[in-house]
Amino acid sequence: MKTIKGVKISSGVVSGPIFYFERGKLTVPKHFIREEDFDSELERFNTAIRKSKNELTQVRDLVHNHLDEDHARIIEAQLLAVQDEEMITAVRELMVRERKNVTWAYFDVMDDYEKLLLKTLSQFFKERTVDLKDIKKRVIYHLSHEKDVIQPEILKPSIIVAEKMSPSDLMHIDHKLTLGIITRYGGVDSHAGILARAFRVPYISNINRIQEIVSYSEIILDADNETILLDITDDIKASYESRIQDFRSHRDNIISDKVANSTKDGVPYHIFLNAGFVDEVKAMDPALIQGIGLFRTEFLCIERNSIPDESDQFQAYKAVLEKMNDLPVVFRVYDFGRDKLLAMLDLEILQEDHIFDEWGGIGFLLDNPEILKAQLRAILRASAYGNTQIMLPLVMFVEEVVRTKEILEAIKSELKREGLAFAENIELGAMIETSSVLEELDELAKHVDFFSIGTNDLALYLLGSGRMTDLTKNYYHPKIFRAIDKVIKAGNKAGIPVDVCGEMASDPYALIGLTAIGIRSISVSSSALAAVSDEVSKIDVQQCSILVDSILSADDTFTIYSQLKKFYHEQLE
Ligand code: PEP
Ligand code: MG
Repeated sequence: MKTIKGVKISSGVVSGPIFYFERGKLTVPKHFIREEDFDSELERFNTAIRKSKNELTQVRDLVHNHLDEDHARIIEAQLLAVQDEEMITAVRELMVRERKNVTWAYFDVMDDYEKLLLKTLSQFFKERTVDLKDIKKRVIYHLSHEKDVIQPEILKPSIIVAEKMSPSDLMHIDHKLTLGIITRYGGVDSHAGILARAFRVPYISNINRIQEIVSYSEIILDADNETILLDITDDIKASYESRIQDFRSHRDNIISDKVANSTKDGVPYHIFLNAGFVDEVKAMDPALIQGIGLFRTEFLCIERNSIPDESDQFQAYKAVLEKMNDLPVVFRVYDFGRDKLLAMLDLEILQEDHIFDEWGGIGFLLDNPEILKAQLRAILRASAYGNTQIMLPLVMFVEEVVRTKEILEAIKSELKREGLAFAENIELGAMIETSSVLEELDELAKHVDFFSIGTNDLALYLLGSGRMTDLTKNYYHPKIFRAIDKVIKAGNKAGIPVDVCGEMASDPYALIGLTAIGIRSISVSSSALAAVSDEVSKIDVQQCSILVDSILSADDTFTIYSQLKKFYHEQLE
C-alpha cells in the first residue's frame, strides 16, 4: 500500500474521490437565451456592474487612504474599465446577435479585450491583462445566481487537493461536498486551517506529491495519523470503515453535554466559543455553552468579498445575540490585514505585491475610520438585543484604545440623538498579541475591561514564525509562556480578567501549561469544545501548579513540551 505523510491541520478520517482545485479558474455557464429573457439578463448585468463598481470604490478608497497613489490609480483604472460604455454595448450586441446568455457574452467580450492587449507591443498594456482578469472575475461572481460559480464546481462529495487554500476559497466551496482537504502549503494556525476546523473538515498539509495523489480515483485521508493512503484495497477500506463511520456520525455533533465550568478540584473555569459565522452560532445550543469569547467579524466580509453595510452588520450581530440568549458575546472589530484582507479584496495585483503584510487590526480601522464607525454603530445597535462586549485586535499602543473609546462615545451620543437603543455599559477588551503592547500592559489595563491573548499572532510577533505556512506548534516556547505570565500578572494587578482565545488553548498539553500559570478562561473553536471541556474537568489545579516554576524558567521548547506531555499522560488519561 502506498502512503504519504503530511502534517495535520484539522483532524478526522474520510475516504472518497479526489477533486483537484485550481485557484481562480472561472466556470462560466453557457446557454442560449429566449427573446423574453433578454431584459432580465440585462438587468442582472446592470446589477453586477453596479455591485462591482461599489466594491472597487471601497477598495480604491482603502488603498488611497493607506497605501500609495500608484496602487490607487490601478484600482481607479479598474473602476473605469468595469463601467466602460463600449464594453457594455459590446456585451448587449453579442447577446442580441448570438443569443448568448449574459455571463457567456461578457466573458467573450472580455476575452477579446485581453487578446487585444496581449497583441500590443507595449509591456505596460500586456501587464494590464491582470486587471482585466480581476474585473472579469468580480463581475462574473456577481452575475452568478450561485455564489460559487467562479469556483471550480464540485459535483459530488470529494477530497479537495490543491496547492494552497485561502479562507475565501474555503468559504466559497460547498463545504457539504468537501470531505477533506490536502494541500502542498498551509499552516496550522492559518485562517483556512481555523475554518477547516470550524467546518470539521479533515485537512493535511505539507504534501509535495500533489500530482501523484490526483492520479488516484479514490483515497483515504487519515488526518488523525497524518497519513494519506493511496492504492487502497477492499481489505484496507474495510479496516477503516468503522473509524470513517464514527467520524461521519460525530461530525455534526458539536457538543452534547454542557461544557465544564470548573476543574476537577472545583476551581471555576470559563470555556467560551470562537465563531465567525451566523450559521455556526445558530447551530449551537445556548443551554450547553457559556458564551462566545471571540466572534471574528471579518469572516462576514470574506463570506461576501466586501464589507457589509451597517444595516447588514446589525442584522448579523443581532441574530448572534438573540441566539445566545443573554450569554456574553465578544464581537471583535474587523481584524483585516494579511491573509484576511487579501482574501476579501481578492485582487491579484495586490496579492503579488505583499503590500498588506504588516497592516491589520485596530490600527487599520483607525486609519479607515468610516469602516470602524459603521461597525461600532452596528454593534452598539445590536447590543440592545443581548449581552454584548467589544474587543480590539492587534492593539499595539494604548493610544489606539483611547482613540477608539472616543469614537465609541461619539457614536453613543449620535445614537441617542437618533433615538436608537443600545446597551450603556458594554465592556471593552484588548487583544494581547503584539510584542509592543506587552511593554504597555499596566497602562493599557487602566483603559480596558479585559485582556484576551491571541496566541496565534503572539507567536508570530515573538518568534517570527509565519502562521500561514508554519507547520510546527510554537505553543511550548518559553517566550510564549513568559509573555502570557506577564499578561496574567498585569491583569491581576489591575483586577481585570485575562482570557486566551488563540488556538493554543485547544492543544491538550498547552492547556495544562496555561492552567498551571493561572489561566482560568479560554475560548476555542466549536470542533475543540467537547475535548477541551473534558480535559478541564479532569485537570487538578493544585497538582498542575507544581509545573509553574519549571515552565517559566525553562530555556527551551522541548523541556516544556516533555513536562506537559508527561503530566497529561500521568494525570489525565
Ligand atoms: C490570535 O491571533 O490568536 C487570534 C485569536 O486571532 P486571529 O487568529 O483571528 O488572528
Ligand atoms: Mg490574531
